[in-house]
Amino acid sequence: MSSYWLQDDAPAFPRRHHTGRVDVAIVGAGVTGCACALTLADKGLSVRVHDAREVAGGASGRNGGFALRGAAAQYDVARAELGAEGAVSLWRVTESALERLASLAGDAFRRTGSLRLAANREEANSLRAEYEALHADGFEVEWRPELDGRLAGRFHGAIFHPPDGSIHPARWVRRLAVQAAEAGAEIREHDPVRAVEELDADQVVLATDGYTHGLLGALDRAVKPTRGQVVVTEPLESEYFACPHYARYGYDYWQQTEDLRLVLGGFRDSALAEESTADEGTTPGIQARLEAFAGELVGRAPRITHRWSGIFGVTEDLLPLAGRVPGRNDLWVACGYSGHGNVLGLACGELVASAILDRPTPELRLFDPARML
Ligand SMILES: Cc1cc2nc3c(=O)[nH]c(=O)nc-3n(C[C@H](O)[C@H](O)[C@H](O)COP(=O)(O)OP(=O)(O)OC[C@H]3O[C@@H](n4cnc5c(N)ncnc54)[C@H](O)[C@@H]3O)c2cc1C
Repeated sequence: MSSYWLQDDAPAFPRRHHTGRVDVAIVGAGVTGCACALTLADKGLSVRVHDAREVAGGASGRNGGFALRGAAAQYDVARAELGAEGAVSLWRVTESALERLASLAGDAFRRTGSLRLAANREEANSLRAEYEALHADGFEVEWRPELDGRLAGRFHGAIFHPPDGSIHPARWVRRLAVQAAEAGAEIREHDPVRAVEELDADQVVLATDGYTHGLLGALDRAVKPTRGQVVVTEPLESEYFACPHYARYGYDYWQQTEDLRLVLGGFRDSALAEESTADEGTTPGIQARLEAFAGELVGRAPRITHRWSGIFGVTEDLLPLAGRVPGRNDLWVACGYSGHGNVLGLACGELVASAILDRPTPELRLFDPARML
């Protein structure tokens, strides 16, 4: 079965055709590649985007639909690793990207906030430390010690993040692609790139996240493809979950769509080795766990209407690689969001575009590929 999100009608976008060499070629038409293309085309550069599938056909159209600030690691952990200044800068850059997402996505974005839940006392202590660090550094955040409704008795406290939201990811990224094409970018779907050298462009950006393979050896080693599986239920009788929810350190995540379906993903940690793969496909073990958990959350076994998987790219320090490839004047990367790329992908696509436009922003240093490539 295919992604519920990708079944939404795809809008037509203007088909541009640049003859000959372009200023920038981008590999990947997910959120990163489309954001990069829009920023560059808006400034008058000639841009060609290549995707082996279609716009949003990778993780951008197959994810959980959470639009979260921050990165994969908890804020207090990022602060210990990057220092307070680095962590603040990272969270602020994603908050700005969330604002831009809200302004570009139309009805594909809903500002709901998000709820990060503690599944046991140990996780509650860990989340409390994250909450304290966010609060101390001046971020808008709430601690919820008591939970009600379907969450009562199951979880042990939660952080509510007011700026976060819910996206219809395929609708959002297809809209972004329309805007990039309207600004002048050529988008070539079903156009696999076999080697960077075959691209007729002054600069090349690899925006391939978990689908990165075979274009740059060092990148293949630094970004580990990882599979996530998702199920969607029939529309439920009520709204039980008004915003994206995630628990067990983000291993399990769920939300309800506007027509009240439950979108639920996770349980990768029950088969970590098996899920460290670039192969899309669902497995009976994880699907059974997702179905059972959907039943627990809803109080009955809802009918499953969609099942699918997608691949995301994980780096060793859980931060993306975005910037120029060391030793190359003409090659850039933006990938490796470690399962947290809906907002970070927008941010990194735009940051790389700004650097190509000779307007580098200091935040790009947070993601310097030289630390791993
Ligand atoms: C199941 C799942 C759930 C997730 N949930 C969330 C979530 O709720 N919130 C969140 O923030 N993040 C989530 N993520 C992560 C998020 O979806 C990704 O980080 C993000 O979509 C990455 O976008 P991208 O544009 O960089 O890459 P992608 O959207 O993966 O696009 C990469 C594109 O590159 C193309 N490509 C690769 N190689 C080539 C080539 N050689 N030639 C041409 N084209 C090529 C692929 O076809 C693909 O379309 C999830 C991921 C998965 C899989």
